[in-house]
Amino acid sequence: MPVRNTCDKMKRVAEIRHLTGQTRDELVEFVTGLGLPRYRADQIFRGLHERRIRDLDKITDLPKDLRSQLDQLATASTLSVESRYLSSDGTRRYLMKTPDGRPVETVFIPTENRDTICFSSQSGCPLKCDFCLTAKLGLLRNLTAGEIVEQIIVVLNDVYGEGAETPHGTNLVAMGAGEPFLNFDNLIKALEIMSDEHGLFIVPGRVTVSTAGIVPKIREFATLERRPNLAISLSAASDELRDRLMPINKRWGLDDLMSAAKDFEKTLKRGERFTFEYVLLGGVNDSVEQAGQLADLLMKHDLRRVKINLIPHNPAEQLDYHPSSPEQVMLFKETLESLGVSAYVRTPRGRDIYAACGQLAAKEIRGSIMSDANELKLAL
Ligand code: SAH
Repeated sequence: MPVRNTCDKMKRVAEIRHLTGQTRDELVEFVTGLGLPRYRADQIFRGLHERRIRDLDKITDLPKDLRSQLDQLATASTLSVESRYLSSDGTRRYLMKTPDGRPVETVFIPTENRDTICFSSQSGCPLKCDFCLTAKLGLLRNLTAGEIVEQIIVVLNDVYGEGAETPHGTNLVAMGAGEPFLNFDNLIKALEIMSDEHGLFIVPGRVTVSTAGIVPKIREFATLERRPNLAISLSAASDELRDRLMPINKRWGLDDLMSAAKDFEKTLKRGERFTFEYVLLGGVNDSVEQAGQLADLLMKHDLRRVKINLIPHNPAEQLDYHPSSPEQVMLFKETLESLGVSAYVRTPRGRDIYAACGQLAAKEIRGSIMSDANELKLAL
């Protein structure tokens, strides 16, 4: 039956096959199941991922009849963009919706020589980190592999135009809404699809996955052959404080977490390091003593190939925390460095549009909405 309107289509989308989330092998199985030759799978894959087409009818190297047939069975676009926000620093936030109305947020962060896309692995988040606004949403649901890949396609098309060359390399960070390691299989599948050289070609070395500390998954991640970079959100160096800030710590405490981190460290290749993120909360975890405690914790577990990313807290009305003063941030960093630990301070991006770390909570805000009139041509 022909699809009559967008609403029908959105209902249908929930039931049919989302080709953007299929690996090459799955696409081959799909097309051969339809009695088609294998090379059709390659054409579809390239159309979706290299040319970033979101409408199957536009894969014009497929015969017209086949396109109509595919359109009845499958789709290449499930996410709709509800709003786009543009920060004064060039960061863009996209609020998208799944066919079942779940919010999905993605952030585009341009820097001089590269672009970073921060994507979501879940709609909402089940973890209850006390300083994070996304936590207030609770878990709505896991995103499918297709919904993860589609976020990147939507953003690249919006910034550069559909299928247009991206002038810079694209780095990905799984640091949007959700806990990536609680949606492990879909995440890994999406990353595999995106690494294909005949598609988006975003290789694992350009990807960083951030976890709040799902210990068994850190161990599983360590066994992957072509794996992305790892970041572990720590934010406290004592169980007492971490239990309070990140309740996942009650399930896997610091001893467990650090020994998984140590085992992960052993699997690093030469020259590789991994990251601990530490959100600096004014008067809560930012004292010189606490910096010392953090250095001790790393030493106790013999963690040497690590760096600490210090993230000043991004505030929001519903959160009872405030960022540390710039002086305190420097003092914390210098204390770590004097104890032999590499530490970097991350500059918050897109705070004004609720695009910074921990601010993604499907917030609709006035102002800063991108319209065609105020859309900046990014100086990229
Ligand atoms: N669930 C994963 C990934 C998403 S959060 C994780 O916890 O790692 C990405 C990063 O943002 C984490 O390091 C998290 O601690 C940090 N974060 C959360 N809320 C924040 C806030 N309000 N300000 C600054 N960073 C925050």
